[in-house]
Amino acid sequence: MEQYILENLDQALEQDHIKVYVQPVVRTLTRQYCGMEALARWDDPEHGLLLPGKFISVLEDHRRIHELDIYVLNKVCKTLKSMNRRLDVPVSVNLSRLDYELCDIFEIVESAVRANKVPRSSLCIEITESVIANNEQLMHRYIDRFREAGYSVWMDDFGSGYSSLNVLKDFMFDELKIDMRFLSDISSRSRTILASIINMAKEIGIQTLAEGVETEEQFEFLRNIGCEKVQGYLFGKPMPFEDCLRHVEQGGGTWESPRLRWYYDNIGRLNVLSARPFHSDNESNMPITGLELNSISIAILELKGNMAEMLFANQAFESTASAIDWPLIWDHHRESEGIPLNRISQRIQKLLEDTRSEGEGKSLFVYDNDYYELRARTLARQGDACSILMSVTNLSEISAMANQKQLDEGLRSLYSVYEQVALINLKDLTVVSLYLDRTSSHKLPTGNLLARIEENAEQRIYPDDRERFRQFMDPDTLEERAAREGGISIHLRALSFHGSYSWKCYQLVRIRQDAYYFLIRAAEKEVRELQAKYHAWQAKDGTLTPELLWDNVVNHADLKFFWKDTKRRFVGASRSFLDHYHFRSLDEILGKTDEDMGWHIHNDPYRDEELKVLNEGIISHKVEGEDQEIVATKIPLYSQDGKIVGLIGSFYQSDSHLAAKDAVRQARTDALTGLLNSRGLYEDMYAYIDEYELRGRDFALIEVSIDDFEDFNTRFGYDFGDSVIRETGRKLLKCCSNKAVVARISGFYYKVLRQYETQDELDELIARIRQIAAEPCRVSEASISVYLSVGMALYSETRNRENMEMQAEMRRMTDDVETISQHQLMENTGHIFHVFDELPLAYAVYKIISGPGGGDAILLYVNKCFVDMTRLTHKDLIGRRVSNFFVQDAGNWLRMAEEAGLNGKSSKGEFHDTHMDCDFEVTAYPVIGPGFCAFTFNRK
Ligand code: C2E
Ligand code: MG
Ligand code: MG
Repeated sequence: MEQYILENLDQALEQDHIKVYVQPVVRTLTRQYCGMEALARWDDPEHGLLLPGKFISVLEDHRRIHELDIYVLNKVCKTLKSMNRRLDVPVSVNLSRLDYELCDIFEIVESAVRANKVPRSSLCIEITESVIANNEQLMHRYIDRFREAGYSVWMDDFGSGYSSLNVLKDFMFDELKIDMRFLSDISSRSRTILASIINMAKEIGIQTLAEGVETEEQFEFLRNIGCEKVQGYLFGKPMPFEDCLRHVEQGGGTWESPRLRWYYDNIGRLNVLSARPFHSDNESNMPITGLELNSISIAILELKGNMAEMLFANQAFESTASAIDWPLIWDHHRESEGIPLNRISQRIQKLLEDTRSEGEGKSLFVYDNDYYELRARTLARQGDACSILMSVTNLSEISAMANQKQLDEGLRSLYSVYEQVALINLKDLTVVSLYLDRTSSHKLPTGNLLARIEENAEQRIYPDDRERFRQFMDPDTLEERAAREGGISIHLRALSFHGSYSWKCYQLVRIRQDAYYFLIRAAEKEVRELQAKYHAWQAKDGTLTPELLWDNVVNHADLKFFWKDTKRRFVGASRSFLDHYHFRSLDEILGKTDEDMGWHIHNDPYRDEELKVLNEGIISHKVEGEDQEIVATKIPLYSQDGKIVGLIGSFYQSDSHLAAKDAVRQARTDALTGLLNSRGLYEDMYAYIDEYELRGRDFALIEVSIDDFEDFNTRFGYDFGDSVIRETGRKLLKCCSNKAVVARISGFYYKVLRQYETQDELDELIARIRQIAAEPCRVSEASISVYLSVGMALYSETRNRENMEMQAEMRRMTDDVETISQHQLMENTGHIFHVFDELPLAYAVYKIISGPGGGDAILLYVNKCFVDMTRLTHKDLIGRRVSNFFVQDAGNWLRMAEEAGLNGKSSKGEFHDTHMDCDFEVTAYPVIGPGFCAFTFNRK
């Protein structure tokens, strides 16, 4: 094998049969991976994987080991370079003693490091202890060179050689690698040795690493004695680099950062086994004496016959002995001949005598109110000499310290918990203040109990909690209430020193009959927690989140509410609110004020009320709405810092008024359509008129009727007719949304009232109403067409209700003259113009239309005289175009008609009627409104 190795080394190096494995190193304090060691493996094509044990010594024997070491070194540097600091833990390489003789290993390391830009702190040099001693001079040079250049130099396999301690003494290493495998088991002996090595290394400032750690138990022990790092199968076997990274990652491990390395290296310098751990580095350079190394007081006394001599006392013993003024022993400490036993105090004399005979003794004594314990043990005898180990401990120091500490802590925590502690005496009804926290403003200071209670209730307690406070403090019942439990408590809101109220816990703790501790402590947090618990309990499994509740309240609860911003614009509303007012979606009101929406007949009172809420925070309570059904409340909407950021309005159908209102509503409602009836309409109309007269707010009356409605009745029956009326009413209401009042007056006549700001609003409404005719109307499975006649009048036109109505009616009746049936037209116009029926002058009303060859007009009404004059019938005339039977001078006639109908100017003229062959004197008048005119005819 030896031959094989030597012959094949070159080839193995060339062909990469030599593999560099790494084994991870773990820091005991953190269990983080903090480094790795590079270990050579020979993966031979013939012999398989060869361990270093097979080839290292062969290579050393034949002085070729440096070839391997340089190879490994270069591989390690290349790997570190390839990691590009992604992994920044030091890697150690093993160098052989011979490397220093066979080559300039320092220069080779340096050039490898420089070539690969590896930080020197990332490379550690391991030198096996056993090889160092051979050429001390050379080793010194090398170790110092490496260390001066910034490399850590580690002593490998400490304890395996014969000169370990010498090496430690003579060479300065950064770290000791202690091989656990040298300690065959983890017996108490091994443990003590390990602990001593670590203690020793730490005391001289060398870090420690234990190799070959295989069990958790070993790890625990090493950690406890302060060994900083471990390496071994417990955390990973040697393996290829990539495998090692994966191994650490898969085990959930992490790599230590360089910053943490520095930090923990410093912590690791502490020797946890030290008797003087607080000594600083400077002090550790001072010569150590046995006197100061142990903090337990120790002395060795020798009894010879009846003489006692102090052989040894450490510093701790000296200081304790002097503190207790123990002159007898102390004074004679340095007298070589010692002092006679009988000059020592009897108690100590007895202890020493007992120890000499029994081998052991213990004694307690009191000095200056302190307890002391003396312990003694026989160490050795020789002839009549008996040496005794002694120690003295101030027990009261220990126990008193403990007691005092407890007491202090107790008081401190009491005071840190309670803002106030007072004593209440029920016999003489007094209160004595024991403790007052600076921050406590609720004071129940010394004085008469009853007066103090009242004073506090009035000045310190939150108004809503005052009555509870008085009841809680009531001295008459206090004994009875508190005796049962030994104490009682209550949560109250009281003034805090910064002027706001916060939750406090008041406690009365019974000391004895009629005497109580009165305690106050802050309870803000616990009350909040209680409340939170309560809320959590309400939410139970977390399904009822506030968001969900809000969502449901807004969308599903039968609660009508809305909220507005400071400009009184709608920001949101509950579904129930939207439904109540027939809004299809929030969009219809979003960003709009009541005025924008034409919400009220009288705007001012509502605006003023909302401004009061927004500007003055005054809650408007139970304001009745215009439609008398609702009672509304509007409250300010506060932001978290208390600013008014809007308002919330809510309303409900008031119960008390509901019955009465129901009756009123019924009286106002049209049973067939659910719209207002004429009573409802007129009540509202007077309100509109009022608003016009008071504030000049104009409104329109729109009359709507179903053209040739009778046809439905005759063709489909009355039920069908009713359905048409109902359906049309529904559509009308929809057109008007909430901005108008819609009523059915009788039969197929509807009236709509609408306040407006611009003509456009009205045009739009009219257009929407006309649109109804274009939509098919579904009634009892049938789809029919419903044509409407529409007429509108403004109140401002006449400033008279009846005139307005008349005008609207006329306009409606003459609206659809071209498509309406003649029968209906005659009925309509007959209804309007019947006052002219008996006039002894021929009278006719026309509607001007645009005809095919220019202007034209339709005859709407003729009186009896006119019929007689023409010798035609009503049926021949009504609804006919003038151009049909009026040929001569038509242009002239039309000019007059337009002058009257479009410009509102009356005019006189003369015509010759070819049909009747006679001349007429005619006068044209404006009538009804734009587009209409009337003519009187006088036969010449
Ligand atoms: P070492 O430097 O003390 O390396 C540690 C040895 O302990 C490694 O053996 C490793 O596999 C083994 N080991 C680690 N943890 C455990 C464990 O928990 N239990 C047990 N039983 N063993 C563990 P390996 O790899 O066989 O190396 C043996 C020795 O060969 C090394 O001891 C080192 O002195 C030397 N060596 C390895 N590679 C090189 C190298 O490239 N150059 C030189 N000069 N020497 C090397
Ligand atoms: Mg090693
Ligand atoms: Mg080792």
